Amino acid sequence: MTASAPTRSMTASVIGSAIMLVGFVLVVLAALRWQANGWEAMVWLLCFVLQLVIRVPHTRRARGIAIADRRKDASEQLVLGFMFLAMMFLPLLHLSSGAFAFADYRLPVWAGIVGAVVQLPFLWLFWRSHADLGINWSPGLELREGHGLVTSGVYARIRHPMYAALFLSALAQPLLVQNWLAGVLAIPAAAALWFVRVPLEEKMMRDTFGSEYQTYCARTGRLLPKFTA
Ligand code: SAH
Repeated sequence: MTASAPTRSMTASVIGSAIMLVGFVLVVLAALRWQANGWEAMVWLLCFVLQLVIRVPHTRRARGIAIADRRKDASEQLVLGFMFLAMMFLPLLHLSSGAFAFADYRLPVWAGIVGAVVQLPFLWLFWRSHADLGINWSPGLELREGHGLVTSGVYARIRHPMYAALFLSALAQPLLVQNWLAGVLAIPAAAALWFVRVPLEEKMMRDTFGSEYQTYCARTGRLLPKFTA
């Protein structure tokens, strides 16, 4: 176990602020290209911004809570990088500049409507999972000081509701951002999260919470709710 102070290094703050600034500029440019991008991509952009609105307060609060245990894993870092690329950077770059227009495809209107509808449970589950995890949320494989096992709210029957939300978003993305690079890549990125991060995270939770976590696993599903008698 390695304890770390709740303060961020200067370099991390500068990098974080630079990413936020670039992201903001790309969102504005993407919105200005609404006619070229089409309504489906604008739905994606709106939901992307709402997702940030949900997450930012949790990111800020988490900075003030010390980390008690951090599992550094190169494969998990690669997966997070791939997700950042496929679900944030590439779609924003494409929608703000048309950079990947050569990889565009066109789907019927109903496909865009399905994508837009799927964003509703995504946003709800994303919001609820952050709210229910509270101070126990971390972007990485980390446990906070005083970390407790959450087994209520959306965690009562599913162990990974936040990832379930991200999978819904990854399924909707190719329907809304109709491009092989800026849309479809979200699906393998979400699959990588599932195959690499989930086993590592469950091991960390088992190591920490032991039989309490085993019992919790027995009565919950990973992604789909488990209903026991
Ligand atoms: N996998 C969960 C949580 C994602 S956030 C989900 O999809 O909803 C990742 C962090 O949440 C992990 O690093 C771990 O510290 C924490 N975490 C995951 N499940 C938890 C639980 N049931 N109770 C408390 N913390 C949990």
